[in-house]
Amino acid sequence: MSLEKELKQRSSVCELCGNVEKLTVHTVSPKKNDQPNHSALICETCEHQIKDPQNIEINHWHCLNESMWSEIPAVQVLAYRMLHHLRSEGWAQNALEMLYLDEDTLEWARDGITDENTPVYKDSNGVILQHGDSVVVTKDLPVKGSSMVVKRGTAVRNITLAHDDPTHISGKVNGQEIYLVTKYLKKQ
Ligand SMILES: [Zn+2]
Repeated sequence: MSLEKELKQRSSVCELCGNVEKLTVHTVSPKKNDQPNHSALICETCEHQIKDPQNIEINHWHCLNESMWSEIPAVQVLAYRMLHHLRSEGWAQNALEMLYLDEDTLEWARDGITDENTPVYKDSNGVILQHGDSVVVTKDLPVKGSSMVVKRGTAVRNITLAHDDPTHISGKVNGQEIYLVTKYLKKQ
């Protein structure tokens, strides 16, 4: 039996959000599509957003409050990674704290979070920074092209990682979007 057939026997709806249309097999990296536990049957909406996590529709993912309890490891891993991505949202953080994965599954889930191909953003202590983190500025920083100075101790919530430049993140200070050098930040 093909993997797709096997998954469709396991579920007739998207295993993440319950959608019934446009279902495809999604094999969860870095596993191969060699067994059903390594893949999930998901809909086009989920698939697009998993592939393009910067353009995510947060409300769609409330579905994880239910699907995270799936017994299928591939679904658990997808839920874990997405909740982790959305953890600046209170509900996602809560769900992540409740989600229990066995050791192997957890390792698999985390494996996908720090991809070697993506640049690693680190704060002044070498702690890895991720999208949505909150940081504190460790030194007075003049803002290029303006008279503004970001004072030491300023907290910046919900940071965005600068595209392909691991030395900078961006975030809002006093309502203004500015770039900050990661080595002068401390993760909260
Ligand atoms: Zn879906």
